Amino acid sequence: MTEETIKLGSNKGSIFIDKVKELLPDGGNLNLCLTCGACSSGCPATGLEEMDPRKFLRMAAFGMDDEIIKSDWPWMCTMCQRCIYACPMKIDIPQLVYNARTLRPREERPQGILGSCDMALRNDSTSAMGASPEDFQFVVEDVLEEYKEAQPEFKDMEAPIDKQETEFFLNQNSREPVTEPDELIPLWKILHLAGVNWTYGSKGWAGENYCMFLADDDSWEHVTRITVNQANELGCKTFLNTE
Ligand code: SF4
Ligand code: SF4
Repeated sequence: MTEETIKLGSNKGSIFIDKVKELLPDGGNLNLCLTCGACSSGCPATGLEEMDPRKFLRMAAFGMDDEIIKSDWPWMCTMCQRCIYACPMKIDIPQLVYNARTLRPREERPQGILGSCDMALRNDSTSAMGASPEDFQFVVEDVLEEYKEAQPEFKDMEAPIDKQETEFFLNQNSREPVTEPDELIPLWKILHLAGVNWTYGSKGWAGENYCMFLADDDSWEHVTRITVNQANELGCKTFLNTE
């Protein structure tokens, strides 16, 4: 897709991109684009919705705010930051994308991401799948016991929850305890064999944070604070985000 396909009729002065520049150190370098296309070449969202990071940046620079609001492409960006890595000018396109998401009213954002964020706000697990702290504890203990019985060489392996003063505080994507509990075990084995002193928290154990992808700053902060507060209350030294 080339710039020739961009219609300039809606240009009204780069309102959106100017606001984002004000938010970012050095304006996120958003006005330094050389149109080289290196960002698009490695972007997993290139081609979706006939869009790519370079084109998205050009549309923002042309002030095509209405088109940006209507586009679903910002919701397909994974926030992987490959574009920044590839860009010779280190232009912060993911921040531009993130702020584009905030242009939509919260209730009009993609229902899957919205529902997962709302689910995470329901209890202190912060689980997008709605698993409670009690459910998590039951699954962890059950899977651990079963594995130790089947594999006696791992009879001393632990999967602690709320252990005090550990080196590492780990989180965990809720998909494993809810749908694939056996997938919890490989990480436990590595930590056990490496002699690592670690723990999950009963609060904030769920590592996924759909509120971030929803561009809901308050909810993102709420979810993150539950995890951080639990790690601090337990006196853990290092927060290890497995997501
Ligand atoms: S952060 Fe978004 S725009 Fe940048 S490479 Fe990743 S998916 Fe593409
Ligand atoms: S890599 Fe950077 S300079 Fe090149 S087109 Fe993309 S944003 Fe512009």
